[in-house]
Amino acid sequence: MHTKTLKELSALLQAKQVSATELSKLFLDRIKQSDLNAFIHVDETLTLQQAADADARIAKNDTTPLTGIPIAHKDIFVTRGWRSTAGSKMLSNYVSPFDATVVDQFRTAGMVTLGKLNCDEFAMGSSNENSFFGPVKNPWDKKAIPGGSSGGSAAAIAARLAPAATATDTGGSIRQPASLCGVTGIKPTYGRVSRFGMIAFASSLDQGGPMAQTAEDCGLLLNAMAGFDPRDSTSLERPTEDFTRDLNNKLQGLKIGIPREYFGKGLAPDVEQAVRAALAEYEKLGATLVDISLPKTELSIPVYYVIAPAEASSNLSRFDGVRYGHRAKEYKDLGDMYRKSRAEGFGDEVKRRILVGAYVLSHGYYDAYYLQAQKIRRLIAQDFQNAFKQCDVIMGPVSPTVAWDLGDKADDPVANYLADIFTLSTSLAGLPGMSIPCGFGQGDKNGKRPVGLQIIGNYFAEAKLLNVAHQYQLATDWHQRTPEGI
Ligand code: GLN
Repeated sequence: MHTKTLKELSALLQAKQVSATELSKLFLDRIKQSDLNAFIHVDETLTLQQAADADARIAKNDTTPLTGIPIAHKDIFVTRGWRSTAGSKMLSNYVSPFDATVVDQFRTAGMVTLGKLNCDEFAMGSSNENSFFGPVKNPWDKKAIPGGSSGGSAAAIAARLAPAATATDTGGSIRQPASLCGVTGIKPTYGRVSRFGMIAFASSLDQGGPMAQTAEDCGLLLNAMAGFDPRDSTSLERPTEDFTRDLNNKLQGLKIGIPREYFGKGLAPDVEQAVRAALAEYEKLGATLVDISLPKTELSIPVYYVIAPAEASSNLSRFDGVRYGHRAKEYKDLGDMYRKSRAEGFGDEVKRRILVGAYVLSHGYYDAYYLQAQKIRRLIAQDFQNAFKQCDVIMGPVSPTVAWDLGDKADDPVANYLADIFTLSTSLAGLPGMSIPCGFGQGDKNGKRPVGLQIIGNYFAEAKLLNVAHQYQLATDWHQRTPEGI
């Protein structure tokens, strides 16, 4: 039962062959037995109350395709009842008085919250090692990182601790962990999914999205997750869409852009091999590959690591020991209280970003760093528009390597930043992007570690991405593989 897709579980629930309560108990049990550290907070009583509500709805035939399906939320989305920590000591005891819009939407659809998923502190990281609650282990190889920042989400889906999860992507945090854990995830166009109640990291980049086993499941989740929210000032006002509407379109004649810059040196041979095999599969499905160029790819790293910290330093100023979270026990005066609370509450990576951010925004440096980065951001977006004149979607690797070992890059922030090379520019441009499982690589240590294929589309092309992913998943079974013992 636990390996079934959301779509399959939905059919069983509607046919009353399983109840929401039984499903929740099954997954809560699996979570309890797991040693991956994927969850930060679980509360059985709360979950079972929601499951009982869902069963009542099912009994009355008042359902949506998601009613009764368990879902776990990245601990960046605030939830009533469960703690909302953002993976930080700063918020380790914080309980929100309201639900994030996304959480609310899934509740309205009748989904059952399983608990809160581990992540890098304030979503800053690529390995989940920046969480105050400790790293998450990759279910495929417990010596390996799960990726980040949504490492808990990806590990939970891969280990079948939940059939669905939320995640957020600021510079790759849905796609990269999905890739390293062998699950499917989609980062929608910026503004599709409400940021209200999503603890802010870099507001012009942050975007929520779903993770699940399949593209079809992600489409069903996105149907509930996307939509205009007056409480988010950058939320897009667009008509409601069925993101699953094009799943069954054939790929005959599809033009796939292959960016030269994504296949250069720095791409590990085992990753390249799996990605190229996936591209060959697409050719069999009727697509043609087109050579394209995204010439500013390399600049996405310095640009992102100026803009994201700048916005983070501003967003995180609210954590002052007065209004939210941790307050130092001893202090001399107000200034001392601020300083000590922040020094104690934030981890190293968060402090590093606040320092960089405050620096690039400061008088005298603003033009040289922040403004310059904004200009290049525009050029990066333009690169994509030029590319989309030649192709329908763009494909390449998500991560230059498979998951690395826990600890390997823990003391080297720059090595972590460099690993984001293939995901950052999509975020800077605000485009939708996906990761789907497409094989396995060895890594350095002879482990069997998943490889993800990245699919990037133009603005609002989520239905197309899901179609392109779904057709591949009909033809291959990478997304159905599970780690040993699952
Ligand atoms: N790895 C990137 C960072 O550390 C992206 C994180 C994210 O998308 N939240 O900022």
